[in-house]
Amino acid sequence: MELKNFKWDQDADGIVTLTWNVPGRTMNVLTGSAIAELAKTAEKVAGDASIKGLVITSGKANGFCAGAALDEMESGASAPGGAPKTQSPEEMVAARYNGVMQFHHALRKLETCGKPVAAAVNGLALGGGLEVTLACHYRVVSDNPKVQLGLPESKVGLLPGGGGTQRLPRLIGAMQALPLLLQGGNVDPQKAVALKIVHKMAPADTLVAEAKKWIKETPDPVQPWDKKDYRIPGGGPYSPGGGQVFTMGNAMLRKESYGNYPAQRYILSCVYEGLQVPIDAGLRIEARYFTKLMMQPESRNMIRSLFLSMQELGKGARRPASEPKTDVKTLGVIGAGVMGFGIAYVSALAGIDVVLIDATQEKAQGGKDGAAKILDRQIERGRSSPEKKAEILSRIQPTADYAALKNADLVIEAVFEDRGVKADVTKKAEVALGNKAIYGSNTSTLPITGLAEASERPESFIGIHFFSPVDRMGLVEIIMGKKTSTRALAVAIDYVAKIKKTPIVVNDARGFYTSRCFGTYTREGMAMLADGIHPAMIENVGRMAGMPMGTLEVLDSVGLDTPLKVMRQTKKDLGVNTGPDDSEKFLMWVVEEKGRLGRKNAKGFYDYDDKGKRVRLWPELLAYNGGKWKTDASVDEMKQRFLTLQALEAAKCFEEGVITDPRDADVGAILGWGFAPFTGGPISYIDSIGTKKFVERLDAFAAKYGDRFKANKLLRDMAAKNESFYTRFAPAKQAA
Ligand code: NAD
Repeated sequence: MELKNFKWDQDADGIVTLTWNVPGRTMNVLTGSAIAELAKTAEKVAGDASIKGLVITSGKANGFCAGAALDEMESGASAPGGAPKTQSPEEMVAARYNGVMQFHHALRKLETCGKPVAAAVNGLALGGGLEVTLACHYRVVSDNPKVQLGLPESKVGLLPGGGGTQRLPRLIGAMQALPLLLQGGNVDPQKAVALKIVHKMAPADTLVAEAKKWIKETPDPVQPWDKKDYRIPGGGPYSPGGGQVFTMGNAMLRKESYGNYPAQRYILSCVYEGLQVPIDAGLRIEARYFTKLMMQPESRNMIRSLFLSMQELGKGARRPASEPKTDVKTLGVIGAGVMGFGIAYVSALAGIDVVLIDATQEKAQGGKDGAAKILDRQIERGRSSPEKKAEILSRIQPTADYAALKNADLVIEAVFEDRGVKADVTKKAEVALGNKAIYGSNTSTLPITGLAEASERPESFIGIHFFSPVDRMGLVEIIMGKKTSTRALAVAIDYVAKIKKTPIVVNDARGFYTSRCFGTYTREGMAMLADGIHPAMIENVGRMAGMPMGTLEVLDSVGLDTPLKVMRQTKKDLGVNTGPDDSEKFLMWVVEEKGRLGRKNAKGFYDYDDKGKRVRLWPELLAYNGGKWKTDASVDEMKQRFLTLQALEAAKCFEEGVITDPRDADVGAILGWGFAPFTGGPISYIDSIGTKKFVERLDAFAAKYGDRFKANKLLRDMAAKNESFYTRFAPAKQAA
């Protein structure tokens, strides 16, 4: 049979091997055309008496199928869920629903074709890829522990729309299926066998033979859920066990997500409602929820930021195309403290040789020991081995001798946040470095242009700002100084790609992009406190707004003396001579009168035990002013205050040219400081509300709460034209 996405091969026993191999892509993805061909295949298998069975496998070396083509889905080009953008909302709903139903029909045809169908899963099978295998009667998977199986849709704000919410719980029970569906985590082959998601594990080169053996010896061409005596494993929603699963599941979901993530809510509904009806009705339920979800801004924004934009930035979308590709083989890290050893570790992990410098040999060695501790934790969790640890550490050379930097392609400085100390090490490093080396600073606050003044080669000087803890945080903020060259930018981006992190590119300014915007979150929490809103309410509403931590908790981690210093320094820098405002007075009481500095002295807005664990809100804070805290503030308005102020700061960064690409702004916010992921980031947040409505909200808040909410000129201008950020600042297509 002639197919575009698959190779058809019928053997002498009448068993067809269908090898999935989408042309022009390194990995199979589920496209509209592949779905149509699966349907055609099922019809042929059902109707041709010479065909005894079907084996589906992949022709790609690195996997079976990575899931739906989200780029195709987002552009609305075709099924599943596809719809051209010129359609009316009603037509879009109908097109998306029909698109998903086409996928369901194709897979139903496959599992009811009357012949045994087996999947030989020779690599990663995610999302739609796994869903195709769930519609097969038998699954045999490669025994390679690196193979991952899962339904990760919920991670990007989607639900598994290819029958995953119906077949998986029917196969393994709702209790086992729900965590996989709701959290989107993957399982390795061993776990997949234990969970009974797949029938068997076998060496990769024997998979097709194993599948054929099953077809010849013990074929069963009927799915469990299509058999008369079928029972849902663990019981349906109305059984005692099932009832408990859904009651608890609902409560836990609410606790974790505060109802912010429609995908998770709908997944739970799909499973709950779908398990009460026959599979075909269940699939229609899933298709309805999928369509409803696709029409919501949350999922569209999440797909754009957390999948498409993140992928584009990771592949070098912001890399100057004119610069030749570079490969950092030797990295110098100066300052072997918390950040320095983290940078040394992630770089050595990526195969880069690292020269780790500190003021003394002992301190440099201390940094290497810090990297060893990260690896010990990885070994404890079964994610590394003593051999790998030795290999990675052998790439880190601790020293106090700057001459060791001679062969470095790139240096990253992570010494104390002090202009003088930084200038001193820049000079020392440049004496040793070759002319081609690029010099990056990991400063979190000091403008790059100023730091570059200490350099003989300011064009090679750039900001490379990591986040703490370096081994876990996926973002790197690259900062262009006034004189930074495109070559320095290219090297920095190539390096960040090599260590498998996501780069955003910003221009130089106080606090750059991330620290500056995030600062408004904690400041708003302080303003609420100064307004007399109950501290527990401030903390809870912060999390309800989608932020990972309450503002007081964040401030305790940063250290309470820091915001006090920042407030005073900012006034000094701006030449403002006013006395302390209410927030400053409050902090003066906590820090200067009560000596509470936050986590660092185990006393802050919270009390901590001797192991540093947060115990409770500080009782004296709760008793402040006779304990007369307000608890009747509007929760919705508080949530809006938190998100609106951060988004306004992001808009100001656009106006000032600190940030120029909405993808940087949104991805940077979610990965850098955990800005409510369900919004797709602060810029998607504004665009979803609409600039006109957003400015109206700012005007109302400014009248009620003060000038910090005053809309900037750019927003007013955009509101007048009803313009969105993603159109006005449409990402430049400059990928290398
Ligand atoms: P740290 O105090 O843990 O480490 C600084 C290291 O620099 C120390 O080991 C110190 O001995 C070394 N050092 C100081 N002077 C030196 C000199 N003259 N020569 C060589 N080494 C010297 O600090 P950190 O938290 O790792 O921060 C380092 C830098 O990273 C700062 O600029 C900070 O603003 C920035 N940063 C920190 C974080 C964070 O969360 N900690 C996040 C992003 C950026």
